Amino acid sequence: MATEFRCERCGRRVSVEASGRRVSCPHCKSPLTVPPLPASLPRPKVPPHDQTDVIPALRRAFRVLRDAPAGRGGKVICLLTDGEFHNNGRVVETIRRMDVGHKVRIHTILHHYRSPGAVRVLRRIALDNAGRFRFVGAGG
Ligand SMILES: [Zn+2]
Repeated sequence: MATEFRCERCGRRVSVEASGRRVSCPHCKSPLTVPPLPASLPRPKVPPHDQTDVIPALRRAFRVLRDAPAGRGGKVICLLTDGEFHNNGRVVETIRRMDVGHKVRIHTILHHYRSPGAVRVLRRIALDNAGRFRFVGAGG
């Protein structure tokens, strides 16, 4: 199955029968790593929801950042999800509690389904934590 993606250099579409391999862009010849096959993953038949409890992962991320050696670069969490959380309010609350003094920047990335609820909560989290929200659709 072909993998389609955009060349980082020239921005044109590249389609190859390989994944995770290095190829050169057929348009501009720049070296590219073919991303792993998102198109070949089984697509969920229903939009995912109510399944994700992100709080344990967030706690762990904050713990790792807290224990990181001082002076060791920026503190950033990228929160990637394919839907809103069943406990949106608690997620926002947990982040506020753990990120005392707003020392951690949190970027939020939503993929697959752009549900309004997910957009709302992820924008909120990004806004609260000096991060940015992005939606990444299937196929880029
Ligand atoms: Zn190119």
